[in-house]
Amino acid sequence: MTRIGVLALQGDFREHICVLRRLGAEANEVRLPQHLAGLDGLILPGGESTTIGKLAAEYQLLDPLCESAANGLPMWGTCAGLILLARDVGHLQPLIGALDVQVKRNAFGRQVDSFEADLTVSALIEPERPFRAVFIRAPLISNAGPDVRVLASLEDTNGIVAVQQGHLLGTAFHPELTDDDRFHRYFMKLVEEMT
Ligand code: GLN
Repeated sequence: MTRIGVLALQGDFREHICVLRRLGAEANEVRLPQHLAGLDGLILPGGESTTIGKLAAEYQLLDPLCESAANGLPMWGTCAGLILLARDVGHLQPLIGALDVQVKRNAFGRQVDSFEADLTVSALIEPERPFRAVFIRAPLISNAGPDVRVLASLEDTNGIVAVQQGHLLGTAFHPELTDDDRFHRYFMKLVEEMT
């Protein structure tokens, strides 16, 4: 069985775990460095990226997370998790920094400016069906490096909101808060291909 960890320091890790279990994966909460042992993949959930990063540093998890990313462990960051994975967020905060993107935090305004949008994502199964994406105080990917594949952009502004760089996946929105599990399936397939 595919064994996927979900970083469980803060944020909506429970929702990811529910989707993963429904899809037949073993899903484990990750809070300490030893919880990374034996994982086939890792999800970094949404929440508040500064808090998650600081807690990860305090629990001695940040360096092991950086090493896991460098050693090819498939990782998927959603929203705050994308921020944690990013190389550059415009100021200093604890980051994993493995994904070659620049990210603008809170790019769409405050919590009240949260919104939903239909995305066309040709990499997913049933690509003709739009993916209804939930953006909550979301970041935007303002720049993506040459090895980064853009998976989805917002239709009106062309802002990049989903990317992949080999074993690393980043989405500015929250697939775990919808009934549409195609991004989770996409990540699980990536994990299976890499193990
Ligand atoms: N605004 C949050 C941050 O900058 C991310 C929001 C989210 O994960 N929904 O960390």
